[in-house]
Order: sequence, then structure tokens, then C-alpha cells
Amino acid sequence: MDTTEILGRIWQSPDLWGDLDAICSCGGRFAGTESEAKARAFLEQRLRDVAGAVRAHTVTYPGWTRERSRVRLLGSAQQELPSTSLVLSPATPPGGVEFDLVDLGRGTTDEFRALHDRIRGRAVLVRHEFPFSLTHVHRRRKYAWAKEAGAAAFLIANNLPGCGVVSGSSGRGEPDDVPAVGLSHEAGEALRRAVEQGPARVLLEVRATRAEATAANLIAEIPGRTDEWVVLCAHYDGHDLAESAMDNASGVAAVLAVFRAVAPQVPQLRRGLRAIFFTVEEWGLLGSSLYLKGLSETERRQIAIAINLDTVVGGRRLSALTSGMNDVGHFVREATATGGAPVTPVSPVQANSDHFNFFLWGIPSFRLIAGYEDPTALTRYLLTPADSRDKVDPAELRVAAMTTAQLVLRACAAAEPVAEHRRPEDVRRTLDMGDPWVSDRVEVRKA
Ligand SMILES: [Zn+2]
Repeated sequence: MDTTEILGRIWQSPDLWGDLDAICSCGGRFAGTESEAKARAFLEQRLRDVAGAVRAHTVTYPGWTRERSRVRLLGSAQQELPSTSLVLSPATPPGGVEFDLVDLGRGTTDEFRALHDRIRGRAVLVRHEFPFSLTHVHRRRKYAWAKEAGAAAFLIANNLPGCGVVSGSSGRGEPDDVPAVGLSHEAGEALRRAVEQGPARVLLEVRATRAEATAANLIAEIPGRTDEWVVLCAHYDGHDLAESAMDNASGVAAVLAVFRAVAPQVPQLRRGLRAIFFTVEEWGLLGSSLYLKGLSETERRQIAIAINLDTVVGGRRLSALTSGMNDVGHFVREATATGGAPVTPVSPVQANSDHFNFFLWGIPSFRLIAGYEDPTALTRYLLTPADSRDKVDPAELRVAAMTTAQLVLRACAAAEPVAEHRRPEDVRRTLDMGDPWVSDRVEVRKA
């Protein structure tokens, strides 16, 4: 097998950038919108060009349509503040509701504890933070704490000045969910000043509708010599603030480039290559969750490893989130030791993309990500309108795709198992499933 030739194909092809460009041109690809449907049609054709056939795996999910949101600071400093409702936020009554506001700063455990008695019935304000770090506190966690303490509404302000409002998910559409909106850094500052100067009140209005919706994961295969598979996946949905370029047009374009480049080689290798584009990832990893649930035990066992590309540009270094599977980390290190870019395995379990669902079923898996533990990385702009094409360095995209090709070829060709499957019950037992949104330092032992 001539790896050099395959990597050369990726390095030289104009299609990698062309695909990224085309995906971004569809818009942010928020699930349930025209933009997502347009991207799906484009990707279906691109996969068909390589594999000849594509399967659309239907995903039925609790749909939610964002209409408008409004946040108005009341009192002497009154002003309208730009906002966006968080995914699945319940609507408020028309015209909105007035709330007293509590500023919890960043929104750490200590801050929630210190102001616990003042939260009930009020709107809480917390700050977004750089998500790709073991020390960060996830928005969903802050949201859950706010609900537990009896908050009536949830506001999260961008931590970065000058780049607009921050988006993301909030609850899961449960009856006790509270209205939730994302704000700009500047709006957060205006609210902070108002709280400092005395009791602050806000008017909050969220308009949104809910109805069951359908979307589709896209699946294309090149069989190998056995019935084993390497899954190479990326989510194609995003947020409607801009182009969702780093997160995750980068991963999708890289999957396409690798799929194209290795396709002629795969039939001679031990394992086949299955490319999957998941959707509704941004809503709590729904597309991949339903996909895996729909597989038989045998089909899940046939997946030798799942390689999930999510945000593979925006930082100079690449990391692999291996969910405590040490043999997966070993595979990653070995496969990238001799070429491509070095990839650093990060062990703690992180429920931040589709690899987590493979992990829950005990399937060897990891997420390839750029800029981990690097708060200066451009990935700090994720979930804001600044996640646009101009943040994508074409050289970084090429290196990510070539490194992925190296991992895929090694996984498809290896004579021995890539890594061992775990028993799902052991995986779930090891995890504190009450709070899968945080990094747990757990070692998940082999079955
Ligand atoms: Zn993502």
C-alpha cells in the first residue's frame, strides 16, 4: 500500500477546500432548517460520487424552531440587548416576562453555592467559557444547577468581547426546563453593571415552536476483505449564527477528502471504511445515539474503531479524546508516529461529540480535535457568529485530513484488533452518568 501516494492526493486536491467552502455556503446548518437540508443534499451527492450508493438513516427527533428572542434591561439603564435563544428553550408568554436578575459570574459550583438562596424565581446570568479544557464548566451543567436551585430563566454571556452572542443547547425539552438565551459579552457587562448598582430587572421573551421533526444521517461504505469496519464520522449540523466552519464543516470536508483518497485502496485491506455524516449532534448527540441504538449487537461488534472528526482546525495541535480507552490512545500514538501531525491522546471521558455514543456502547472510538487545552486557539470562537471560513487555515485542514488518512489506513489494514471492545454495562457503571457533561478522570478497563 502506498501511503505516500494517498497522502499526496489529499495534499494536492483542490476538493478539500472546495468542499469546505460549499458546506459553509449552505449556512450554519441548524437542524430542521433549509440550510441543513441543503448541506445534506450536497453531501449525499459527494458520498455517492465515491461509493456509488448512500444510505439515508432517518432520524426522528423532538424538533424546535427558533423564532425570536428579546432581552431588555429595565430600570434607569434601560436598553435592548442582542440575544439568541438556546436550543430547545421553552417559549415565554407573548410579550415576555420580567425577572429579577442574579449575576453568578462564571457560574462555578462555588458561585452557585454562594448565591444559592437568591436564585429561586429569578433569572441567573453566567458566562460562557473556552470549552476544550479539563477545567471548564459546561453550559449544560450550569443550566442544570440553575434549574436545581429554582431559577426561572437562564442567561449566558459570551466571554469574548467583539464577537456577538453565544449559542448552544440548554435543556432537553423537559417540562421543568426554563427559558434560556445567549448574550454578547457587552450585554453581559451591561447586566453586571446594573446588578452592581442595585436590584436589576430584565424583560425576557423567547418565541419558539416545537414539533416532531425528521432529518437523516448519511452513510456510505467501501467494503474491505472481512465484515469488519472502520467508521469515519463527522456531524454536519451546526448553529444558525454563521457558517459553523470550524465546528464542523472542517470535520465533514476532511472526512470527504479521506474517503475519496483511500477508496481505491480499501477493497484490498482487512476492514472496510464506513463514512457517516451525523446530524442533530448539536442538540445532545441525537443522530449518532439513534444510529447506534438501531444497530444489532453483531453490527456494533463489527465496528473495529470509530474515528470522529469534530473541529479539526483552529489550533496548531491535534488531540484525540479517547474516553479512558488506553489501547485506543496507544493506537493513535503509534499510527501517527511516523507521519502526519503528532496527535496527543487525552484520556478523560468527554461527552462533547458523537464519539461519546460509540464509547457508551463499548466501541473503541475517539474524537480528533484541534486546539485542545489552548485557550488562544481560534476554536474559542465556536458557538458564535465568528465561527466562519476566515478562521480556517487551508494548511491546517490539509494536515488534519492527511493525519486522519494515516489513522484510517492503519485501522483498516491492521492484522490484529485495533483496540478491544468493552461491555456497555461496564462502561456505564464506570461513568457517573448523572453528569456526563463534565470530564471525569476515569480509566475504563477492558472487558
Ligand atoms: Zn461539533
